[in-house]
Amino acid sequence: MGFIADSLNRIQPSATIAVATKARQLKAEGRDIISLSAGEPDFDTPQNIKDAAKAAIDKGQTKYTDVDGIPELKAAICAKFKRDNGLVYKPSQISVGTGGKQVLYNALLATLNPGDEVIIPAPCWVSYADIVLLGGGKPVFVPTTMEQGFRLQPEALEKAITPKTKWFLFNSPSNPTGAAYSDGDIKKLTDVLLRHPHVWVMTDDMYEHLIYDGHKFYTPAQVEPGLFDRTLTVNGLSKAYCMTGWRLGYAGGPEPLINAMRKLQSQSTSNPTSITQWAGVEALNGPQDFIARNNEVFVKRRDLVVAMLNQAKGITCPKPEGAFYVYPSCAGTIGKTTASGKTIANDEDFVTALLEEEGVACVHGAAFEGSPAFRISYATATEVLEEACKRIQRFCGNLR
Ligand code: PMP
Ligand code: GLU
Repeated sequence: MGFIADSLNRIQPSATIAVATKARQLKAEGRDIISLSAGEPDFDTPQNIKDAAKAAIDKGQTKYTDVDGIPELKAAICAKFKRDNGLVYKPSQISVGTGGKQVLYNALLATLNPGDEVIIPAPCWVSYADIVLLGGGKPVFVPTTMEQGFRLQPEALEKAITPKTKWFLFNSPSNPTGAAYSDGDIKKLTDVLLRHPHVWVMTDDMYEHLIYDGHKFYTPAQVEPGLFDRTLTVNGLSKAYCMTGWRLGYAGGPEPLINAMRKLQSQSTSNPTSITQWAGVEALNGPQDFIARNNEVFVKRRDLVVAMLNQAKGITCPKPEGAFYVYPSCAGTIGKTTASGKTIANDEDFVTALLEEEGVACVHGAAFEGSPAFRISYATATEVLEEACKRIQRFCGNLR
């Protein structure tokens, strides 16, 4: 028994953050590194949002606020849920935290008892399982396949549900695969959930606005209103509003759950930064047209990356519907040897060698419970992406 809590031995450091940090360090050492690791738009935060933050500072809106959000922001969030998702929440059903990550953390830590199961379709974002483990729960991964477009099938969901299932954790468009579920896809899952009233739905809608080619976004409580009373709808400003560093996330859900989340947050971070909250009011109430403009750029980048990766030997890259990730399989490279003599036994070896030999940083599929594959974030300048893909092609072409 060491000094550090046993609970910390149950979890891993965030792999996405670890790879991004390593890439930053290598860059600082002067190495020519292209980092496609962090899920963060390269676009700047829109000017009107920055101006709202500056105004908040000048007006002295720099004090503690209500723990889970100022009334003005909760009102803006209620309006957003109604406008975009047809969901009617009262301000007392809204929780605001320091990033979507804290909101998910609050919800899981506030509800899990030892042994409670959380169903997570895989591949999945790195943090879900670790937060569940920290809370004493048990992540239950349900695999999806590239052939099924990485979309969970209703039979697989049905089979994973047990009397111990507490949550079904849903994420569309998905990090890391970019897969987006249609209303029909979601209906098949919500039909299963209707038959299991003890299972709650946590939906992570972080990439709601990043959806392409005419695909439409849907969220479970909108598709099946019968689940509204046991759904937590989580969202945030990081991705669509290019506000990753500002740290603002929110959720709508039943009052007893929202109250429990507030209780937990009151004993950790208290309120999210007051200035960020005022910026959030402007983000949600202000003009939204920059999102479509950014998406035009994202689509071009996605198409470029998918085309170039499919020309790399041993790589198969599907074209995702949303988010800003691609999730190619590197199955065709496993067992091969790199130019400098390293054997690739798994996807972690693949990304490690790619970083060492070509200076391109990506995240290995094992971190997302989906191997052998790797994740590329294409939220990076187009020229940089092109150069990165050339390096990946060269790396794969050199494998023997
Ligand atoms: N959910 C998903 C699927 C994500 O990719 C992220 C990553 N940033 C988050 C939640 C958390 O975002 P944030 O804490 O920046 O709001
Ligand atoms: N969510 C982003 C990613 O997947 C940011 C880092 C993190 O919080 O995981 O890269």
